[in-house]
Order: sequence, then structure tokens, then C-alpha cells
Amino acid sequence: MKIFNTLTRDKEEFNPINEKEVCLYSCGPTVYNFAHIGNLRAYLFMDNLRRVLKYNGYNLKHVMNITDVGHLTSDADEGEDKMMKAARRENKNPFEIASFYMEKFLNDIHKLNIDKPEIIARATEHIDIMEQYVKKIIENGYTYSTENTVYFDTSKLDKYGVLSNRKIEDQKAGARVEFDNGKKNISDFAVWIKAPENHIMKWDSFFGKCYPGWHLECSAMGYKYLGENFDIHTGGIDHIPIHHENEIAQSKGFSGKMPANYWMHVNFLLVNGEKMSKSLNNLYTLEELEEKGYEPLVYKMFNFTSNYRNQINFTWEAMDSAKTALIRLREGYIKHVNGMKKASLDEIKDYENRFLEAINDDLNMPVAMSVVWEVIKNPCKSKEFKDLLLKFDEVLGLNLKDYTGNKSEIPEDIQKLVVARNEARNNKNWAESDRLRDELIKKGYKVKDTKEGTVIE
Ligand code: AMP
Ligand code: ZN
Repeated sequence: MKIFNTLTRDKEEFNPINEKEVCLYSCGPTVYNFAHIGNLRAYLFMDNLRRVLKYNGYNLKHVMNITDVGHLTSDADEGEDKMMKAARRENKNPFEIASFYMEKFLNDIHKLNIDKPEIIARATEHIDIMEQYVKKIIENGYTYSTENTVYFDTSKLDKYGVLSNRKIEDQKAGARVEFDNGKKNISDFAVWIKAPENHIMKWDSFFGKCYPGWHLECSAMGYKYLGENFDIHTGGIDHIPIHHENEIAQSKGFSGKMPANYWMHVNFLLVNGEKMSKSLNNLYTLEELEEKGYEPLVYKMFNFTSNYRNQINFTWEAMDSAKTALIRLREGYIKHVNGMKKASLDEIKDYENRFLEAINDDLNMPVAMSVVWEVIKNPCKSKEFKDLLLKFDEVLGLNLKDYTGNKSEIPEDIQKLVVARNEARNNKNWAESDRLRDELIKKGYKVKDTKEGTVIE
């Protein structure tokens, strides 16, 4: 299996530390707001990587963090804690904010059929290990303290910036970092911060009532669950220049080791050529896609049209194509389910080899999908091809096995209720439409309102 390693800027053969179990860490969400579909691209990539590793026979030990403290409004040590800001916006306390948006996030990844990491670790539940981690970095002489902050001293490292290959001087030019009184180098960063009076998320520590710097959680939790050196670390490309450099710096300060051997980064989802982001206010959530009549797996299909290392531009036309593609894929699959012919073993082997070659070429999903389409379109309709598609679906995660050509499955009386409800809605008879919805729910169906009318599951 070959993967692109940001560290060496090269596509490399993947050699895990332990042949039986691959250890990986993914930087997870900061749970201060709804995830947008750009964020979700990062977790679709994570899902894809997990599934490809499993397809290759590896067991996984995979950690993803949930950032619920310490991420300031700028990735550098500037601004306010995002959780505090959200708490003020919504008139809640930051712990409530974190729990609410974490649930929403977990629900989104469930809807996308994302294979969840074995360990999901919340930062606020790991303050102890973070404090121990910081203390060791201090003992090892990699920090200095100002009145309010313990800083990591990047000048103590042989080299800071191994991942992005940036020099400290380059950072000076573009940086907007406000120098805290006493910060020595532009690339130094906060690891342990004294909490102001009004700060709700704070913990007693060797330095008073404090909270951790954002980068610390990933180093400390990665160490706790995966050890000082593990196989793969993933994140978005925006993590390369600061967050991941700082994680590497902390690990060097802690154990002298590189935390991970391979660093993989997913590129951005764009809208009209610009990164989808909260600050540009050009975002969509998964729920908004659903409201517009696109089921979550359509968004997954859309992501397969591009390699994770490339930018991908979001358009409604592309979503429509992905929607049609998913319908065709399912219908093509059903034709093989009902097929009575015998497929040639050579043909199956050839498809398998080419699919494997594509996914093992740094997760080349567009090529892998082209093989899937060849199987779908093969005129020999056969159960062997159905089995092959189910095998490929271990990587795609499109839940093909649950698809049974569902229209015929819905009993006639239920179909009648749906038709009646659509009529009631067309006539703006909301009371009747609500009554029919309740009746459908009572009969065990989920009811959604879409542009195309009532959709039931
Ligand atoms: P955050 O919750 O802000 O920490 O971001 C969670 C993840 O989403 C990070 O890995 C980011 O790199 C990633 N991300 C943010 N915006 C985008 C985008 N437009 N496209 C792809 N990934 C993104
Ligand atoms: Zn991280």
C-alpha cells in the first residue's frame, strides 16, 4: 500500500510498526458549532483510510480527539477560546455547548456511515494526562513561563517546521501573532495557560487554575493511547503549518521522538473557488443537504470523484450528478442481486486486482470507482458480481447490502398514506398533513419533508 507522506513529500510504501495492528491518530472537530460539509470531508477521508487499511487486512487502533477546550479563535495563541465565545452566543455554559455539538457531530458521521475510530477522546476528560505531559516537557527544559502562560520554546529544537518546511523567519513576515509580553520567538506557542477570572473551563494545576493550549491535547492523548511513536497521523491541510508542527515539537520535547511516521492531510472543500468555512459564511451542513433532498450518502459519493489530496469544488450540479450516480449504483447492484448468470472467475480477479491497485495507490478513489462502474455495467448479471460489489463496499461504505430495491417493499397502505399526505400538503391542509405524519410514525416510519414531497424510511 502506498500513501503520500507530508513529512517526506513523497508517496511511500506503507510499513507499519507492528504488522498486526496499525495505530493512527486523527485530529477531530472543535465542538463549538455545527460541522459543515467541508469539515465532514476531513472525516470522510479518515473513513476511507480506515476502510482501506482494514481491506488490506490490518487491525486498527485509531484515536480521534474531540476538542472541547483550549482552541482559540486563531490557531496561533490569539483570541478567545472558541467554546467560551459559543457559550456567550448561545447563553449556555461551555460544557453544554460541547456536549450538544459533539452529539450533532457524531450523528453526522453516523449518517455518512463513517467507520468510527476505536477511541474517541474528549480533551476535557484528559486534563490529567495533559498536565503530566506538560510537566515532563518543562522538566526536559523545553519551556519558559511568563506570568500567565507556559510557552514551548521552539528555539530549543534542532529544527522547528519539519512538516511544512517553513523557516521561523518566513513566519515573521506573514504572522499576525500578538506577542504576549515575554514570548521569545514568533513560533513559540502556549502549552499551559492561566485562566482569567471569568473563564469557566479551568482546572487546578501546578501553575494555578489553568487550561491547556490547543495543541497539547493531541500530543498527550496520542501518547496515552498509542505510545510515543505510532504509524499514521491525519488532519486537514490547515493543520500542517501550526497545529501539527506544534504537536511534533511537543513530542520532541517530551520523548525526543517523532509522534507518527506518516502524516496524511486532506485538502479543502471549496465553494466558488474559496474554502468552505465559518468565517466566509459560505457553508452548508449535512442537514441542509438533507432538507434539499440529498441523502448524506450522496455527499459521500460526491467526495469519491476526487482524490483527498486535491481540492474539490462544491456545486449543486455536482450533487445532482452524485445523486443520480448513487441511484444508478444501487439499481445496478440490484440487477446483480437478481442475476442468474455465472460470472467469469478471471473477470472477477481482474476487477479485484484493479480495485485494490487503485485504493492502494494513495486511496485513488476516482480510479477505484471506475472499476466499480465496470462491474455495475457488466451485462452478465450474476450473484458473484453482487458479492464483489459488497466486498468493494467495505471500502466505499455506501451500505449497499441494506439496499433491497426498496420501493416494492413499502406496503400499499403505507404508500397510500404518503400519497394522501402529499395531497394534503399541496392543499396546504397542515392539520391533515400532521395527522398523516403521526400515523406514519406510529406505524414505524421515519418521515422527512423534501422538495420532492414526503420521503419515508
Ligand atoms: P475544526 O472543527 O475547525 O477544528 O475543523 C475540523 C476539521 O475540518 C479540520 O481537520 C479541518 O482541517 C477541516 N476543514 C475545515 N474546513 C474545511 C474545508 N473547507 N474542507 C475540508 N476540510 C476542512
Ligand atoms: Zn490535533
